[in-house]
Amino acid sequence: MEEREERDQEGLGRKNRRDTVIVTAVFLVLVGAAFLGVKLFNPGYSREPYQRTMFVLDDYVTITAYGKDQARVEGAVEESFRELQRLQGIFDRYDPESEISRLNREAAQGPVAVSEDLWRVIITGVEVYRECEGAFDITVGPLVDLWDVLGRGARGDPPPGEEEIAAARELVGTDMLELDEALRTVRFLRPGMAIDVGGLAKGYALDRAAEVLRSRGVDTGYISMISTDLTLGEKPGAAGGPLWRIGILDPRGEDYLATLLLPGGTYVSTSGDYQRYFDYQGVRYHHIIDPRTGYPARGAISVTVVGGEEGARSDALSTAIFVLGYPEGLRWAESLGLGCLMVDPSGEVHCTEGMEAHLEEVKEAAGT
Ligand code: AMP
Ligand code: MG
Repeated sequence: MEEREERDQEGLGRKNRRDTVIVTAVFLVLVGAAFLGVKLFNPGYSREPYQRTMFVLDDYVTITAYGKDQARVEGAVEESFRELQRLQGIFDRYDPESEISRLNREAAQGPVAVSEDLWRVIITGVEVYRECEGAFDITVGPLVDLWDVLGRGARGDPPPGEEEIAAARELVGTDMLELDEALRTVRFLRPGMAIDVGGLAKGYALDRAAEVLRSRGVDTGYISMISTDLTLGEKPGAAGGPLWRIGILDPRGEDYLATLLLPGGTYVSTSGDYQRYFDYQGVRYHHIIDPRTGYPARGAISVTVVGGEEGARSDALSTAIFVLGYPEGLRWAESLGLGCLMVDPSGEVHCTEGMEAHLEEVKEAAGT
C-alpha cells in the first residue's frame, strides 16, 4: 500500500515536472516570438541607418542615425551638422573671425565676455588642469603655435630651439587665466597668452550634436569624430546588437589594435602621436605638448578612454592621460575608475579594469 502511494506520488511528481517543462517551453516560445516581433517590426527603427560625413571641426565627422521616419532622421542629422558648424565658428583658432580668435586677441587688454559654449569648455579645461596638475592645459596655445607640427612637416623645418620653447612656456599656464563666473568673462594676466581648446572641443561638440538628434526624436545612432565618438541607444539589428562594436586603431599598424563592445551613451576618446606629427632626422614630433617641458609628450603612443559623464571631459581626459604617460597616466585613469587602454612608448598595451569589461578582442601593437 505504502509502496503504491509512493509510486503514485512519484508519477504525480513526474507529471508536475513535465507540465512545468511544457509551460516553461510555451512561455519561452512566446517570449521569443515577441522579441522577434519587436526586432522585425519595431516601429521605432528603420533597419538601414541614415549616414552622412562632413569635414567640420577640423576632422571628418560621421553621424549614423536610426529611426522609422527617414525624412525626420535626415532632418535631425542635417540639423546636427549645422550645430557642429556653429560650434566651429566658436572654437576654430585658425579662423580669425571665430569667437576664440577674438578672445585670444583681446583678453590681455581686459576681461572678455564669452558665449555659454566657450565658457563651458573653458571651465571643463580648468577642472581637468587642476585634477592632473597641469598636464592638460588649455592655455597651451603659444606652444602649439610654436611647434606648428603640420606646417613644419610640410616645410621640412627642424623642431624649434630651446630658447624659443622656454619663451613660449612663459606664456602657458591656466593659473594666469582670470575667470569671472558671474559675468562669464575671461582675462589673460600676460600678453601673448592663447587658449587652444583642440584637446576637448570635439568632445563638447559630441554632446551638442547628440542633443540636437534627441530633441528631434532620434535617440539611436553613432557620432564619430575620428578621435572622439559617442554611441546613442541600443544598436538595432542582429550584428553585435544591442552593443556597439568600436575599433581602436593600432598606432603603428594598418589594422585595429582592439575592438570594444559598448552600450549606448558611451564616449570613446583617443589621443595618439600618430594623428598629427612631423618626423625630423628620425625623431617624431607630434601635436600633444607636455606644458611642463614644452616638448611633445613622450610617455605614451596612444591612449583610449571609455566612459565619462560628458564628452568634453572624456576628450580632455584622453589628452591628459596621454601627457601623464605610462605608468602615471594609467594609474590615474584607474583611480578615476575609467576605462583606459594605453600603448606605452615600448609598444606594450595596458588596460585598466574598467576597459577590460568592454574589450571584445585585443591584439599586440605593431612594431614601434
Ligand atoms: P587630442 O587629439 O584630443 O588629444 O587633442 C590634441 C590637441 O589638443 C592638440 O592638437 C592641441 O590643439 C591641444 N593640446 C596639445 N597639447 C595639449 C595639452 N597638454 N593640454 C591641452 N590641450 C593640448
Ligand atoms: Mg582630447
